Amino acid sequence: MKVDLHCHSNVSDGVLPPALVAAHARQGGVDVWALTDHDEVGGTAAARAAAREQGMRFVAGVEISITWGGETVHIVGLQIDEDDPALVQGLAATRSGRDARGRETLQQGVLFDEFKQLGGAAIEVVTGSHTPDQYPVYAQLANAYGFLASRGTDFHAPGEARVDFAALPPLPGNVTPVWHDWF
Ligand SMILES: [Zn+2]
Repeated sequence: MKVDLHCHSNVSDGVLPPALVAAHARQGGVDVWALTDHDEVGGTAAARAAAREQGMRFVAGVEISITWGGETVHIVGLQIDEDDPALVQGLAATRSGRDARGRETLQQGVLFDEFKQLGGAAIEVVTGSHTPDQYPVYAQLANAYGFLASRGTDFHAPGEARVDFAALPPLPGNVTPVWHDWF
């Protein structure tokens, strides 16, 4: 089962509309797919319909930009309810930049500790944003901090991603996938 839980459409900074991202993912052999546009859930309905048409299982998602310890951190939300009023309102606030706060620089360990305390469940281990030699490093971090592991291309446009849908390797065997109890 090929799972890709990190992609962008032209609803945020991707190039293709959600339906074409779905078709591209399917061509790359993806079976379980999430559209995770930046601070936007406007493409969810189209993505869900396209996934169904392509025979993929769909996971509703969003990638939220936050300022945390003076740095911008991207949190991928999965299995979300895109109609949830608090989420919709929060995303609108994020888009208008009203969430900016925090000055001190956090170390990665502190960030992971805080993320865990706030209910963070997983970190990305195999992703187009990591180099292959970082996969085992993030697998080890996931296990050390008790996080589940996620996987996704961070696709924005055909030919642009460092790794395309078909080329991204599976999660290493020593981690627990974030989707382990979803289906
Ligand atoms: Zn992304």
